Amino acid sequence: MTSTWVTNAISEINADYQRSADTHLIRLALPAFPGIQLYLKDESTHPTGSLKHRLARSLFLYGLCNGWIKEGTTIIEASSGSTAVSEAYFARLLGLPFIAVMPASTAKRKIEQIEFYGGRCHFVDSACEIYAASEMLARELNGHYMDQFTYAERATDWRGNNNIADSIFRQMTHEPHPVPDYIVMSAGTGGTSATIGRYLRFQGHDTKLVVVDPQNSVFLDYWQQRDCGLKSAVGSKIEGIGRPRCEPSFIPDVIDEMMRVPDAASVATMQWLESQLGRKVGASTGTNMWGVLQLAARMREEGRSGSIVTLLCDSGERYLESYYNSAWVNDHIGDLQPWRAEINQLVTTL
Ligand SMILES: *Cc1c(COP(=O)(O)O)cnc(C)c1O
Repeated sequence: MTSTWVTNAISEINADYQRSADTHLIRLALPAFPGIQLYLKDESTHPTGSLKHRLARSLFLYGLCNGWIKEGTTIIEASSGSTAVSEAYFARLLGLPFIAVMPASTAKRKIEQIEFYGGRCHFVDSACEIYAASEMLARELNGHYMDQFTYAERATDWRGNNNIADSIFRQMTHEPHPVPDYIVMSAGTGGTSATIGRYLRFQGHDTKLVVVDPQNSVFLDYWQQRDCGLKSAVGSKIEGIGRPRCEPSFIPDVIDEMMRVPDAASVATMQWLESQLGRKVGASTGTNMWGVLQLAARMREEGRSGSIVTLLCDSGERYLESYYNSAWVNDHIGDLQPWRAEINQLVTTL
């Protein structure tokens, strides 16, 4: 029998969902691409600032309904930060202790937010160490390791409503091209691309799912070679996306095309996007938008009209000290000038 605490915890999450609004779909008009409409699903407006708000809600419900999370269970998560912020929010909602295991390089703003929601941070030197450290902490504390990288794809209901793909298609209904030619997404857990890819098949849409991957990530190689033993010694420099190992939540067979995006191109596109939207976005949104610009240029070349949708994953306010700090960018990413020039050429040629 379900304990009263678990029943109440599920009600608490459902009530929180009921109080929440859906996110906006922003249209970006670029005169250089006539007949091609671009859209950004703005996930930065969730209460915890990123698309991980959806995932955290799903993971808590999954853990509660599976009997893994009970009254007093310490929740532990391996994260590059965004998921931990959102899970700390839900842990506080349920009165559960929360520990985030993260690379020491994680943006300070995210660390502050985790602590704001009453979570604790446990730091490791590199992205490759978060998994083992989380397992160890869960064993020591008799807690529950949430493990987003395994469970993201299965905790999310990809068929019906209450998922991001369904929301995008509903918001597109009054647009000139309601069924997008492409949906572009990057992969962290791979959960969002799995949800979108499955939804496209389930609904029989003609949309192609394109996944963009940063440097130092094995997802693209895995998609090509299907060798799940692939490893990268270095972590991704684009927070939230690109992994050093093949995460179980990454589902290669629902992806139509993958594209490698240089880190400097991601950051240059991120900064350029500020001039188009009037606000700052995170670097993974830059990666996504780079992919969108390449596809829009391809459509223009082929004389096609249509629409492309991508995600605005989080706000740039989290990264003022990194991706928006030119000294930091110089040291960690390199020269953006050639990429700025390329973007300018893409969006000015007619
Ligand atoms: C997690 C994350 C992504 C990728 O989403 P997944 O569903 O985990 O693949 C992209 N951008 C940011 C900022 C993220 O936190």
